[in-house]
Amino acid sequence: MDNQTSNFIKDIMIKDLESGKHNKIVTRFPPEPNGYLHIGHAKSIFINFGLADDFNGKTNLRFDDTNPLKEDIEFVNSIKEDVKWLGFDWDDLLFASDYFEEMYKRAVLLINKGLAYVDDLSADEIREYRGTLTEPGKNSPYRDRSIEENLDLFERMRNGEFENGQKVLRAKINMSSPNINLRDPVIYRIAHATHHNTGDKWCIYPMYAFAHPLEDAIEGVTHSICTIEFEDQRPLYNWVVEQCEMENTPQQIEFGRLNITNTVMSKRKLKQLVDEGFVDGWDDPRMPTISGMRRKGFTPESIREFVRETAISKNNSMVDVQMLEHFVREDLKLKAPRTMGIIDPLKVVITNYPEGQIELLDAEINPEVPEMGMRKIPFSREIYIERDDFMEDPPKKYFRLFPGNEVRLKHAYFIKCEEVIKDASGKVIEIRCTYDQQTKSGTGFTGRKVKGTIHWVEATHAVPAEFRLYEPLIMDESENEGEEGKTFLDHVNSNSLEVHQGFVEPNMKECRPHDKFQFFRHGYFNVDPKDTTVDKLVFNRIVSLKSSFKI
Ligand code: ATP
Ligand code: MG
Repeated sequence: MDNQTSNFIKDIMIKDLESGKHNKIVTRFPPEPNGYLHIGHAKSIFINFGLADDFNGKTNLRFDDTNPLKEDIEFVNSIKEDVKWLGFDWDDLLFASDYFEEMYKRAVLLINKGLAYVDDLSADEIREYRGTLTEPGKNSPYRDRSIEENLDLFERMRNGEFENGQKVLRAKINMSSPNINLRDPVIYRIAHATHHNTGDKWCIYPMYAFAHPLEDAIEGVTHSICTIEFEDQRPLYNWVVEQCEMENTPQQIEFGRLNITNTVMSKRKLKQLVDEGFVDGWDDPRMPTISGMRRKGFTPESIREFVRETAISKNNSMVDVQMLEHFVREDLKLKAPRTMGIIDPLKVVITNYPEGQIELLDAEINPEVPEMGMRKIPFSREIYIERDDFMEDPPKKYFRLFPGNEVRLKHAYFIKCEEVIKDASGKVIEIRCTYDQQTKSGTGFTGRKVKGTIHWVEATHAVPAEFRLYEPLIMDESENEGEEGKTFLDHVNSNSLEVHQGFVEPNMKECRPHDKFQFFRHGYFNVDPKDTTVDKLVFNRIVSLKSSFKI
C-alpha cells in the first residue's frame, strides 16, 4: 500500500473496502484520443494506476472516443505507447465506442420512461433557453413530445434521416435547476463523420456527460477519478447512472489539475502550438507532452517521482517547472556517464606538445558510481575549448583562460595562454598555449595551484555534434491571458531553442538514440532519437547542472 501516501481519495477507498461496499477497487484512465498525453495526464495515470495497485485492484485504459470529429487512431497509438513508457500496465484495453449499441439502448430506456426527448431547437437557441446562473431556463417547445414520437424521431436520427445539428436528444430533468448542467443537457447529437473505430456505422454520438457515467458503470469502475472542473457535473453523472438503471454504481471523485509554470497544459492549446508551427510537432522537446519530454530526455522514473511529489488535493495546483527538473537531475546523477563536449568551439594549439603524439588519458565514467569504470580520452597538441572559457580582456575574478593565465584542463594538464590569433575582422580564431608535463592529472602534482578548470576535446579525433539548448516555451506572463486581445500565443518565447555545432569525445561515436550523458559543466543531454543519423549526432539538453530550486 505505498504507491500513494495518504490522501482523501485513498481514504474513500479504504472506507469502501472496510464497509464492504466494494471488495475490489476498479479504476480507469479515460483519455479522449484527440491529442497526445501531457504531464498533467501523467498525474491522472499515476493516481488511477497507483491507487488501484495499492489495493490489488485493477485499472483499465479506456479511450473515451465519442467525438469522431476530433479523434484519430494516431492519438490512440501514441497514448498506449506513453502509458507503457511511463511504466504502467492496464488490465483491459477498452473503447467507449464499443458500447455505442448499449448506450443507444439506455437512451431509448430514458425516452420510454419519459426522461428524454428529441429537440429541434438549434444549438444557439438551446443556449438561449438555458438561462443563466441567476435566471432559470425556459422549456423547449419540443419538450412535451409524446414517447412514441420521440422513439420514432430518435430512431430516424440514428438512421441518418437528418442533417448535423437538425435535432438532438436531451435528458428531461429540470430547466430551472440551480445547477445548469441539469437543465435538460443534450445527450446525443448528429455527426455524419467516420469514426476511427466504428467507421460509418453511426451518425449519432453520445455526449460526454451521458457517455462517461455509462462507460464507468458498464466496466464496473468503483471510483471514477476526474479533475475538479467536473464537480458540477456529478449530479448529472449520478442521475444518468440511476435513471439508466445501471447495475453498478461508480462514484465520481474529483481532484485538482496539475499545472506547471512556463508552459500550457491543455490539448487544445498544445494542438494550436503544433498546427501554427510554433513547435516542430507534438514530440518537440519543448512540449510538456510525454512524447516531447521523452525526446528531450526525461526518464519515466523522474516523471513518476515528480507526480508522486505533487500533492493530491481538491485544488488545481501550479508547480514550478524547476521541481520537475530537480527530479530528472536526481535520477540521472547516478545513471548518466560523464563526458566532455564543446558547444561553441575555439581551437587551442599547445605549442610545446610533441607534434603527431596522441596520449590516452584516464577518466572516471561517473565519479559518484566508481563501479561504472573508466574511460580513455585522447589528448594531443590540438584541442577545442569553449569559446567563453577564454577572454582577451577579462574582468576581475575571471579564472579561466586569458593571456598569461594558467588553467587546468580537466583530466589532463595545466596550460598557459601565450598568444592569441585573430582573423582580419579581429575575431579570435585560435589560442596558443604551453603545457607543463609535470602537472598531469592523477599524478598528485602539488607544485602550484590554479583557480580555473576548463573542459576540452582533442581536435583531430573530435566527433562533430549538434547541441540543442532549450528555454521555456512560454514566458511567465502566460497567466495573463485575460489581457485585452491577448492569448497565450502572445507569450510564446521566440528564443526557446538555440542550436550549436560543436564536438564531443571520440568514444561518443558509439552512442545510440536516448543515451543520456552528463556533459561536464553543461548539464544532462539526451541523444535525439529523431534527427540523429550515422553522420550526425544530435544532443538535446534535458537540464543544466545547477538550479537554485530546493524541495
Ligand atoms: P485537456 O484539457 O488537456 O485536453 P482533458 O481533461 O480534456 O485534458 P482527457 O483526455 O479527457 O483530457 O483526460 C484524461 C484524464 O486525464 C481525465 O481524467 C482528466 O481529468 C485527466 N487530466 C487531464 N489533464 C490533467 C491535468 N492537468 N492534471 C491532472 N489530470 C489531468
Ligand atoms: Mg477533454
